Amino acid sequence: MTAAPETKPFQAEVQELLDLMIHSLYTHEEIFVRELVSNASDALDKLRHAALTDATLLPEDEELCITLEADEEGRTLTIVDNGIGMSHEDLVSSLGTIARSGTKNFLKELKEKGGENNPELIGQFGVGFYSGFMVASKMEVETMKAGESQGWRWSSEAGGSYTIEEVEGLSRGTRIVLHLKDLDEDSTDYTKDFKLRELVTRYSDFVEYPIRLGEDTLNSMKPIWTRPKSEISEEEHGEFYRHLTKDFMPPLEAIHFKAEGTIEYTALLYLPSAKPMDLFGGGHQEPKSKVSLYVRRVQVSEECEDLLPPWLRFVRGVVEASDLPLNVSREILQSNPHVRAIQKRLTKKVIATLGTLMEKEREKYETFWSAFGATIKEGICSGGNEEDRLAKLSLFHTDTQEGWTTLDAYVARCPADQEKIFYVSGSDRATLAKTPHLEAFKKRGWEVLFLTDPIDEWLVDSLPEYAGKPLVSVHAGNALGESEDEGKTKNEQYAEAFEHLAEHLGAGVKEVRLSSRLTDSPGVLVSESGGPRPHMERMMREMHGQDMPTARILEINPDHPLIQRLLSMDSSEGGRAALDDFADLLYGQVLLAEGSPLPDPSRFSKLLSELMVGASPAN
Ligand code: ADP
Ligand code: MG
Repeated sequence: MTAAPETKPFQAEVQELLDLMIHSLYTHEEIFVRELVSNASDALDKLRHAALTDATLLPEDEELCITLEADEEGRTLTIVDNGIGMSHEDLVSSLGTIARSGTKNFLKELKEKGGENNPELIGQFGVGFYSGFMVASKMEVETMKAGESQGWRWSSEAGGSYTIEEVEGLSRGTRIVLHLKDLDEDSTDYTKDFKLRELVTRYSDFVEYPIRLGEDTLNSMKPIWTRPKSEISEEEHGEFYRHLTKDFMPPLEAIHFKAEGTIEYTALLYLPSAKPMDLFGGGHQEPKSKVSLYVRRVQVSEECEDLLPPWLRFVRGVVEASDLPLNVSREILQSNPHVRAIQKRLTKKVIATLGTLMEKEREKYETFWSAFGATIKEGICSGGNEEDRLAKLSLFHTDTQEGWTTLDAYVARCPADQEKIFYVSGSDRATLAKTPHLEAFKKRGWEVLFLTDPIDEWLVDSLPEYAGKPLVSVHAGNALGESEDEGKTKNEQYAEAFEHLAEHLGAGVKEVRLSSRLTDSPGVLVSESGGPRPHMERMMREMHGQDMPTARILEINPDHPLIQRLLSMDSSEGGRAALDDFADLLYGQVLLAEGSPLPDPSRFSKLLSELMVGASPAN
């Protein structure tokens, strides 16, 4: 007995997308061919893949292909594939909802900018299956999933709902019938042979399966990476990259080469122009690289993680090798010496390309760095022997430069007496620019790097020096290279008061001493060289939700009027209360200036209020 057809509403986002598609995006309607062909090609990939483990899914003599059927009189265009097909459940989840987060963002952007005025937006974005409704008043999908025996018909006129019913007598795969809208004078006829040929060659030439129209195969089926480099246009790279990644922005750069010799392979890699959503892993997933691996024309892994190190996970592309086994498991790939050799070579190639980009197209490189710099820095920390080359590629902001700078440029600017590379770390550039720690460095004309990426804390540990100069935090007590006993006599004079203050200020401060490093600020907290840095401590706190206080040294500026006041205060038992209040205020102020939280904010604000009342003109 056949069940009655069921009618279901589209998810709200789908309806929204459909409305936009039908009413505002018609200028680029022809891309529906590319989208439906791309889905058919994906379905064939999926079947071929499934058949690797279950050979019964794909009889040996069956050819995988995509067929277009045009009916000029009946005004239908049909796209058929003998791929994986869809079950009832697949139909509901794939053709009734939108799973891709990118689609939601795209919708938002379209609504904000207005689709009508920005037709290029749709040209840039894969809108998928639903794009069929730009040209069709009704779409019917007949499909049967590989390994199943029940077929289904999905149909919709886009009016808020779709219908699913059982169909008998289907064979494996999917058949999509577009009932084309009525032709008016200037609309395009998608049942015309020449139009379909034109669209397939423009958008889908690289599809690996034959796309047939009657007796003819319309696409060359020559994978783009097998063609001579000089013959591939930017547009073709763009289409292929989109096919591969579903990224709607064109790639920033293509890296295409053939390796000959003991291991032969062809690689076509792309640097994206914007940061994808999942760069730092979704949820608890370890970030992995993903490059498609082909062996003698057959895709053996869609997202192979062994062809590039994880810190190059933003690079996407294809590697086709001839000397690997076809049926490879994860373990085999991981330990295969050829795969390792390929990884090494690809890594070098990407690094070299980035070097050239940095030299020749600095602006483009800076765009790249803004999106992926933090990921490249992971490469320095991963101990993969590329530290020096990657450090050379790294860009930084500093206290004296407007834009990005390289370490080489920094070193070239160092005055003769500057033997170290200084850095200060924190969460953002603006706060760092104001930190009092920089005063002494500015006075000497010594530039300071701003480290604002979380990874930077590990970076400085992995990169102890560059061009013979050690990297030193401005927080390190000996950063300025002063001799230990500088100002010792003066410190001795206040020894008792300072000891008391250190004790009073508690766990965060282990010593109070006079400093010559400051000009405008009353005080600053430094750690002994090697001790954890304040930004690192903050991160640890955020990550582990716990305090791990490390005592630092409070250095105070004897030339500052506040400190002169402090030093003149009575430090004997009798004067302690006033001295302690003063010290708490000073300590709080120093913490605020470096962007650290206060240990006791309510006490701080109470003291501050008292001070303000005391200083008010009424008093
Ligand atoms: P995307 O291709 O980006 O996933 P689409 O809107 O193009 O988005 O397609 C949605 C989903 O519908 C696909 O992911 C796939 O699961 C399913 N689908 C579409 N066309 C086919 C087809 N010809 N064969 C099998 N599944 C398909
Ligand atoms: Mg698609």
